Amino acid sequence: MASHVEKENVPSLHETTMLYGIFGYPIGHSLSPLMHNTAFAHHGLDAVYLPFAVDPGHLESAVKSVAALPIHGVNVTIPYKQAVMAWLDDVSPEARLIGAVNTIHLRDGRLHGYNTDGIGFLHSLEEAGSPVEDRTVMLLGAGGAARAIAVQLCLSGIRRLYLANRTPARAEALAAFLKQNIPHADISVIAMGESSLAAHLPHTDIVVNATSIGMHAHDPMILPSTELGPRHLVCDIVYRPLHTRLLREAQRQGARTVDGLGMLLHQGAKAFEIWTAHAFPMLLIRERLLLALAEQPTASSPQRKG
Ligand code: NAP
Repeated sequence: MASHVEKENVPSLHETTMLYGIFGYPIGHSLSPLMHNTAFAHHGLDAVYLPFAVDPGHLESAVKSVAALPIHGVNVTIPYKQAVMAWLDDVSPEARLIGAVNTIHLRDGRLHGYNTDGIGFLHSLEEAGSPVEDRTVMLLGAGGAARAIAVQLCLSGIRRLYLANRTPARAEALAAFLKQNIPHADISVIAMGESSLAAHLPHTDIVVNATSIGMHAHDPMILPSTELGPRHLVCDIVYRPLHTRLLREAQRQGARTVDGLGMLLHQGAKAFEIWTAHAFPMLLIRERLLLALAEQPTASSPQRKG
């Protein structure tokens, strides 16, 4: 019976219940409450995770309330990942390089900022049995997610990074930043056009779509898929829909693929570990996310990270 189910799903809340949450605006269909509340329940932790749609004028007071309430851990999503950094006590080296924080941990009364997007992406490849050391990676996109992935890849021993973006100046700026801050990184900006991508694919091991192309049913193919083959691992960080056109066509060409759910899960897992020192129940949460994604609309609302 519905009322019975609802009752069972209400966590018992008391003054000792530890509060966690996500700050964004709008907060939309964030999957983070589902992920973290499932993980808390799995471990029997007296904790709850809430979505906070923080009005743009109130970000500073929202961040300051973290220590006051207290909120033990906060995820940060669009549009606040850069802005929150101004009010944190310290920021991890990766988050500083990426220039964005997606996870805040209140520890010893201080606000510590992290970025778990890049490492989450890397862990999703490792889970698929594909380490990145010594590989050549073609990264499409130069927005927030691409930047987190690019920084992490350059810190993780890849051989070479090809960077392509619709607006070339953004790719050039990202490449210049990476070369300056991670001097051993070997980075080439390439044109986003079909012939340029086709020319570089034979020298590429891993292709990553970190643009928002693929979220809508009529989106064009981002690259010439006939140039893909069994030598390639193709990753799409778009997870709504999960089986994007890029992944479907890559599979048809014999390439291995990794979908965007892996990055979403692993960035959440890393945040959960920072907050609780407990392991994320990965299989259980993957199952819950798949159910939730099947119930949610695909392209009618923007895909929110986290
Ligand atoms: P963003 O900062 O707004 O960047 C968007 C990127 O997509 C830019 O490189 C942009 O190119 C490119 N782009 C947008 N429309 C395009 C088009 N029509 N043709 C070619 N390129 C286009 O967004 P983001 O935060 O990086 O997110 C990018 C995607 O990754 C979104 O779908 C997001 O939901 C997803 N994501 C997934 C995860 C996960 O955990 N799986 C995490 C974060 C993000 P320009 O620079 O030329 O505008």
